[in-house]
Amino acid sequence: MLRFIETYGKAWRDPVRRQALADAYVPIVRGFLLPGCAYYVFVTWGHWRDETGRELAILGGISALTALAYWLMRQSVLGRPKVSLGVLEACGVLTNVLMYSNVLAYMLLHFEPSKLIYFVLMAVVFSTSGVTLRGTLFSIVLSIGSLFWFAGGADQETREQFVFIGIATSFAAFGMASLLRKAILKQIEARLAADEMAARAQALARTDMLTALPNRRSMFAELDGLVASGKPLWLGIVDLDGFKSINDVYGHLIGDRLLGAVVERLAEEASKGDILLGRIGGDEFAIIVPGDRPAAEIEALGDAMIGRLALPFQISLLSLSVGASAGFAHFPSMGASGAQLYERADYALYKAKAHRRGRTVLFDSDEDEEMKENVAMERALREHDLNAELYLLLQPQYSLRENAITGFEALARWRCDGLGEVQPDKFIRIAERSGLMRRVTDILFAKGLDTLARLPADMSLSFNLSARDLVDRSVAAGLLRMIAARGIAADRVEFEITETAVMADLPLARLILEDLSAAGCRIALDDFGSGYSSFRYIDQLPLNKVKVDKSFVRQVAHSVTSREIVAGVIALCQRLGLRSVLEGVETDAELAVVLPLEPDLIQGYYFGRPMTADEAVAVSATQGVRNADNRSASAAAV
Ligand code: C2E
Ligand code: CA
Ligand code: CA
Repeated sequence: MLRFIETYGKAWRDPVRRQALADAYVPIVRGFLLPGCAYYVFVTWGHWRDETGRELAILGGISALTALAYWLMRQSVLGRPKVSLGVLEACGVLTNVLMYSNVLAYMLLHFEPSKLIYFVLMAVVFSTSGVTLRGTLFSIVLSIGSLFWFAGGADQETREQFVFIGIATSFAAFGMASLLRKAILKQIEARLAADEMAARAQALARTDMLTALPNRRSMFAELDGLVASGKPLWLGIVDLDGFKSINDVYGHLIGDRLLGAVVERLAEEASKGDILLGRIGGDEFAIIVPGDRPAAEIEALGDAMIGRLALPFQISLLSLSVGASAGFAHFPSMGASGAQLYERADYALYKAKAHRRGRTVLFDSDEDEEMKENVAMERALREHDLNAELYLLLQPQYSLRENAITGFEALARWRCDGLGEVQPDKFIRIAERSGLMRRVTDILFAKGLDTLARLPADMSLSFNLSARDLVDRSVAAGLLRMIAARGIAADRVEFEITETAVMADLPLARLILEDLSAAGCRIALDDFGSGYSSFRYIDQLPLNKVKVDKSFVRQVAHSVTSREIVAGVIALCQRLGLRSVLEGVETDAELAVVLPLEPDLIQGYYFGRPMTADEAVAVSATQGVRNADNRSASAAAV
């Protein structure tokens, strides 16, 4: 009994348990009210038949009121989805009091000892419909008390009989009340325990284990929920730059700790506003900013987060630096669904990475067309047979000293079924962004090597590497395996890299280039002069060649300064033992200007446009004949 009171007390104080108690009781009380209502309709009819005048008015009135009240309670108050324990208790007590009033009125008007049994019956009924312990106690005491009071007016024998019956009923009623409640409370405890376990499991499924932030699934569910409710919001994606290489170089343990520290800083920034932060990828975080905040505020928020991440992290004894970029999209003005919003924030992020690294970019609705095209391209890259659609054109590199073509640069082309010919700048960017670059590189490189095998043994092939190829050592290892598998001399293969590609992660890029260089391959620094043109790369990377960007050649004809710079670069290359290539020579006039600068090689439309593999093989073959002719001619002259 004590245990029961204790459990009951606990249930009584705890709002969750109170509600659970109410939820368990509502069907009992509602179930009780329906036959109750029917019974009092029947009783009213009985009074109508048996009573007249004042008695009919009182008894019929009370029983009709009871039937009506039962019906109303059942249909309206207890028909609601959530009923509080207080309301339920009031309903229970009202139910009992009405029932009691019927019996009381009847007894007062026509006292019959045999009808005392109604009080006994009521006590038993109250033990179930009383809902709360106090309500039940009150109801039982009321009915048994009345029983004793009315029994006092009866003859000796009846009185004695009903005293015993009353005592027995009290015990039975309390016993039943406590048994019923015990059973219900036990069930409630079991259900609460199950609910709690389910909630815990669900929380785990929605949490990122490493950072304890909401995970991707949870963030998307949250986003979809907010979008469905129609409330405006900003969705942001923050992506770390250079995290992968820290993972590669220092190991996952350090990487994990770094992520933890990153999250700490992001969470601090997020806590300044009503902002939800989650981890949606390895080094990618989503933020949901509710409300219609102005664009400038969002940009400032993004930049503040990025600014915090730009400060070095102290992990173990290491001082580690990562950067970050962010993209944002607004609901509803920039996207109508969660998925669309994500796509657009991601697109803004990609823009940030491409043009404004380390900054925040907001999606610009004017770029919608461009984005759709990119999405179509990405889908095609994923789904099409790239082996059939990708191919290479080869552009000759002409040696002024040897008066001959000494090699070709492989230029990627994509004849896409549906989109037509796609420019390499475009599809390579998309492939890089969507994680498809490795496949593209592998397919193109295999084709390049197959062509190289058909070219004369003294000719080389230059192959462009993307920034993605320079942040993963296994890509280079794969390329070297492909060269070895074909039995091609590694020194016939040259890899072209750009400053921007190397810059993303210089130490890792250097490691990869050293791998390639150690295997015998050549490395050329492409587009020199178009970007930062920092000489530090010439010094830090295992280079064999520098390619002066075509924009420079364009200016050389008009500008003395440009000419001086190009002359300086070529001279520097000679001094460092590097070969130089001038790109983009198109006309006689341009050739006339660049010839005195004495570059090793020239590559441009003047000496040949990009051509098919067959054409390149044919051109090299005739040149081979011509070279042989030249040699025999000079031999004859001697
Ligand atoms: P890039 O490496 O600087 O390639 C040279 C670009 O200059 C080629 O454009 C070529 O067709 C063009 N070109 C050559 N001579 C002349 C000239 O005399 N005048 C003018 N106006 N242009 C000339 P393309 O083929 O459209 O390639 C564009 C860029 O796409 C390449 O620039 C390179 O960065 C990238 N790319 C091409 N193929 C590949 C590839 O297989 N892998 C990777 N990662 N990138 C590639
Ligand atoms: Ca190139
Ligand atoms: Ca170039």
